This record gives sequence, C-alpha cells and structure tokens, in this order.
Amino acid sequence: MSGKLTSARTIVVKIGSSTLVDAATGALAREWLSAFAADVARVKARGQDVVLVSSGAIALGRRTMKLSAGALKLEEAQAAAAVGQIALARAWSEALAAHGLTVAQVLLTLGDTEARRRYLNARSTLKTLLALGAVPVINENDTVATAEIRFGDNDRLAARVTGMIEADCLVLLSDIDGLYSANPRHDPSARFIPEVAAISPEIDAMAGAAGSDMGSGGMATKIMAARIATEAGANMVIANGALRPPLQAIEGGAKCTWFLAAATPAAARKRWISGALKPSGQITIDAGAAAALAQGKSLLPAGVVSVEGLFERGDCVVVKDSTGREVARGLIAYSAEDARRIARVKSGEIEAILGYRGRTEMIHRDDMALVRT
Ligand code: GLU
Repeated sequence: MSGKLTSARTIVVKIGSSTLVDAATGALAREWLSAFAADVARVKARGQDVVLVSSGAIALGRRTMKLSAGALKLEEAQAAAAVGQIALARAWSEALAAHGLTVAQVLLTLGDTEARRRYLNARSTLKTLLALGAVPVINENDTVATAEIRFGDNDRLAARVTGMIEADCLVLLSDIDGLYSANPRHDPSARFIPEVAAISPEIDAMAGAAGSDMGSGGMATKIMAARIATEAGANMVIANGALRPPLQAIEGGAKCTWFLAAATPAAARKRWISGALKPSGQITIDAGAAAALAQGKSLLPAGVVSVEGLFERGDCVVVKDSTGREVARGLIAYSAEDARRIARVKSGEIEAILGYRGRTEMIHRDDMALVRT
C-alpha cells in the first residue's frame, strides 16, 4: 500500500493546524516542521513533485493578536489569518530553505478552483512553479473569502488543487490516524478502516464526528475531500501528522487510511466538467448534433440552434436538445456573443463572420461530459 506514495508523480500534502501549531501554547511546532521539511526534501530528491497546502494562519494569528479562545467571528478569523499567514509562509520558507528548496506562497479561494479562466491561471502558475523546482505552499485566501465563497477547510482546498494540477496522490495530515467505523474517542468498538475502494453511503455515515479542536475540517470534510480527489484520479491517504516524519512513516506502512483513485485522469476531467463547474449559459442543439454527440463526436457550430446566457470562452455551458433535455456539459470555445453569431453556421465560414480563425468545434469532445441516460 505504501507504494502509492513512492510511485506518485505529484504529491499534494495538506498539513492541518493541529499538526503545525501547538495546541497548548499556540506556537509553531518548529521541531515538527524541520523534521517534515527533511521528509519533503527526501521525496523531492527522488524526483517527485510536492505541493503543500498548509493551514495554521488563523491559529498563529489569533495568538499574536491575543484574540480570545473559542470560536472567532468570520472577520476576526480573517484578520487573524492576515497576520498569521506572514509567519506561516516565513516558517515554511525557512524550513525548506535549509534543504536548498524554494517556497512559493499561493493563496486561493473556492472560486479560483471553479471559474475556468482563474482555474487555468492558477493551474499554469502551479505547474510552472513545479517545473522550476519550487515547492508551492498553498492556503485559502482568507481575507477575501466570505462565508458563501470560502472553502473554510483546507481538506477540500487540497483536494481541488489535486484535481487542478492532476496530482496522483493526496496526503491529509491531521491529528487522527485515519477512518474509523465510529468515533474511537467515544466508542471502544470502533473499527479502523485501512482502505476504502469506493465511498459508499456507509463510509459517509462513518464520518459523523469531528476530530479536532483547532482546524475546521472534521472527518466529514475529509470524506468530501476523498470524493473530490479520488474522482480526480488521485489516491488519497489520511494519516497522523504526529508521525515522525510522516511521509516516510506512511511509506513504511504506518497506520493510515487509503482511499483509492476512482477514475483515469481523462474520465476524471469529464467528471470535473460535469460536477464541479457552475454552468454560466446554455445552448440548444438540433437532432443531428444530438446524435453526433451521442456517438462521442464534438459539437460543431452548425448544430447549434440557440444560445442563452452570458459567458466567456472557456466557461462551462449546459447543452440541451430540442426537447429541452440536458444532454451534455462542456467548456465552450466561444464567448456567448460570438457563439450567437456563428450558431447554425458551417465551420468553414466562422472566420468570415467573426474576423478571426476560431476553433472548428463549438465544444470539443475532450471538453465535454455527456449526461448518461
Ligand atoms: N485557512 C485556515 C488557516 O490557515 C485553515 C482552514 C482549515 O482549518 O482547514 O488557518
């Protein structure tokens, strides 16, 4: 089982607040950090890319700002994060510099992993950083992330990042060593689950109780993360961050729970298109185009009957047949305005109408997920 870590090309590691910040004092766990930095350097030296998603900004900042114990108001948490993020980034930068590694700070919001254009920017920045040999350290951009548009927990942020950069392994380091059939703190009959091949309703039911006081992610958010990561084609493991050092311990077969990748990367990308993106428009196609789509072909402008909504090139749109039934979702190659102008038009005439040579397809088949009937 440990082979899933050693054979991965790109490993995303999420470090929870409870691992990085001492619960009693609110201080950074420096010893842990330097042991983990050595662990990361070892994995990098083997040729694997590593991306870190680190919590701890709020936990560090609340101490500096002397905010009271207990739950913070959203704006207090955001203020604490703004203060703590500086210390957090610096700690990572220093710890990894000791091994000759350069750290890049990347702050993301939920929208950055959803909206196609921002998604593409974040994805290419991260890929470029990896190609240059840097170690991206990601956190949520807490300052701008209000209640409705925030992840609120870095488990799901890490899972989205995993899908975004097509990483094949996600490690969630927390204060629990994996998934149990019930909360082991309250139920002595709780069974440890070492491997989850598919996230069944039974697995969801096990995720009932939260495990930590400091971070915001309980087991339920970890299962949500597992669903995102495994559907994106990555294996995910939940392990105890207190293992010294954690990646080496996981490789050595330490107690942990593995969730197995559910898809190939190509299938995963289609699921991402159909599931994670908010459609910003809809197009209606004729019967000929609907038949072509069902055979796995691309959607050409000639088959488009009407276009609704406001969207840009690269956005996700819903594709409906003439009866109004949703047949697919896909990333459209034209803005709403241009799509309207070339609806019903043969691909050869696009350039004459738009004044530029766009794509032959309105939605390429690689960018389209069919609705299964
Ligand atoms: N972004 C938060 C922080 O850095 C952590 C969110 C979480 O607990 O997962 O403090």
